[in-house]
Amino acid sequence: MVISMKNNPIWDINKNNKYNDSLKTNNVDILIIGGGITGITTAYLLRNLNKRILLIDKDNLGFDTTYKSTAKISFIQKDIYQKLEKTYNYETSKLYFESQKEAINIITNIIKDEKIDCELEKVNSYLFTNKKESINKLNKERDLLKSFKVECFDQQKLPINYKIEASFYVENNYVFNPIKYIGNISKKLNSIDICINTMAFNIKKENNSYKVTTNNGIINTKKVIVTTHYPFFIFPNLIPIRNYISREYVNTCNYPHNNFTAINIDKDTESIRFYKDNIIYVSNNHRLTNKINYKVNYNDSKTKFKNNFNKEILYSWMNQDLMTNDYLPIIGYSRKDNKNLLLACGYNAWGMTNGVIAAKIISDLIMNKKNKYYNLFRPDRISLNGIINSIIDGIFYAKAYIEAPFIKKDNIYKVKVNDEDYFLYIDKNKNKHYVKTKCPHMKCNLVFNKEELTWDCPCHGSRFDIDGNIITSPTKNDIKKKNN
Ligand SMILES: Cc1cc2nc3c(=O)[nH]c(=O)nc-3n(C[C@H](O)[C@H](O)[C@H](O)COP(=O)(O)OP(=O)(O)OC[C@H]3O[C@@H](n4cnc5c(N)ncnc54)[C@H](O)[C@@H]3O)c2cc1C
Repeated sequence: MVISMKNNPIWDINKNNKYNDSLKTNNVDILIIGGGITGITTAYLLRNLNKRILLIDKDNLGFDTTYKSTAKISFIQKDIYQKLEKTYNYETSKLYFESQKEAINIITNIIKDEKIDCELEKVNSYLFTNKKESINKLNKERDLLKSFKVECFDQQKLPINYKIEASFYVENNYVFNPIKYIGNISKKLNSIDICINTMAFNIKKENNSYKVTTNNGIINTKKVIVTTHYPFFIFPNLIPIRNYISREYVNTCNYPHNNFTAINIDKDTESIRFYKDNIIYVSNNHRLTNKINYKVNYNDSKTKFKNNFNKEILYSWMNQDLMTNDYLPIIGYSRKDNKNLLLACGYNAWGMTNGVIAAKIISDLIMNKKNKYYNLFRPDRISLNGIINSIIDGIFYAKAYIEAPFIKKDNIYKVKVNDEDYFLYIDKNKNKHYVKTKCPHMKCNLVFNKEELTWDCPCHGSRFDIDGNIITSPTKNDIKKKNN
């Protein structure tokens, strides 16, 4: 039997969920922009507030980064606890651990209390290494977890045939289906208006309220919550140079079900979970740069998958997330003197927990409740290591800004049209596709992704299709050729 591989995530799309795509009202008390795990969970936690709340999304709910995640709800996050101890101190590391445990409690309680059908499953989570030289690092993470009162069980092997050097596991982590979670929780939001296909372009403060410009008209609101994965406009607190985009590749095949997850502690990520009778495997993570060879990354991830599991790939996709230079998400008031504009981003590839804790912090701030994680994640925090990493990043961004992209025999030509620079791509059928050469977000040089036929920004992750239409924010504008 020939199995044809699908180039999309494994999660089924529920076509029964129908949302409005025109606004019922232009005047609200609270506007949530972005309906991924963060926006939808924030809406859920604010649903009984007795305020006019509107949630908008530029596409459908959940169909950006959350759709492409592997949806582990886990406090095992590679070497995060030792990184935080080094960057900040032991107390910060412990507080971050507590935030992840609390997020797990919040989301699992919501799912149980509301009887949300999203294939939630309790799992043991393994942290492992396949390098002898990383065993000390693994032990250090285990000892930190033990000091946080987590029971850790040392193991020589994973429950499946997969080569490792050492590992331990912890209990009480979870996996779920993120698209079912978003689709089914949105049915519990009768008090909240949801409007899809509504892209926010601009947020303007006027007296004590905001005017948010969208393709569906201007929305007047007292408070704005930006949960768009990457803040779609340039925020204060130097957010664009405090993080970078990391991309990872996901492949799946048929495999007997097992109720554990695993991730390695080494730099090159290897991550495993099961969904029904499939294994989902993540590998080949890399930072976006202007010198990406997409073909190598895609092909390497597939080769690695086949070497490990020796089966036909069923689903294959990639995802990218925002990584912060001090390893902590950015959640809270956009400025400390402005309590009406809030944001959440920078989950370092752990948005199923961090998106939920962000929703809790933001909803507590809106309801004037104290939250013990407010200072941990506040956008204006400062750390020496964070500053050093941002300076190093500055050099990287300067390169992506100045250097022409790396184009290799891809039928791409740099041309001038009416004195403006364009890339011209000529496809197999000799059709011509023109796009601008720079990302409208912060003018970094775009890179051609031959594998998916997209134009990708190496700085902040915006993506465009071959004709210059937006696929992924933070950009708000297409890069199409103007009609003459
Ligand atoms: C390969 C990979 C695997 C991962 N697996 C896991 C995992 O197992 N567990 C885990 O915890 N995390 C995982 N993550 C991370 C996780 O997927 C993300 O951190 C999380 O999904 C981010 O959620 P979000 O709500 O911030 O963003 P999104 O899900 O991207 O939601 C943002 C929404 O905002 C909308 N939007 C954007 N701009 C605008 C605009 N201008 N106007 C209106 N709407 C807008 C978008 O359409 C989108 O729906 C993984 C990441 C990668 C790269």
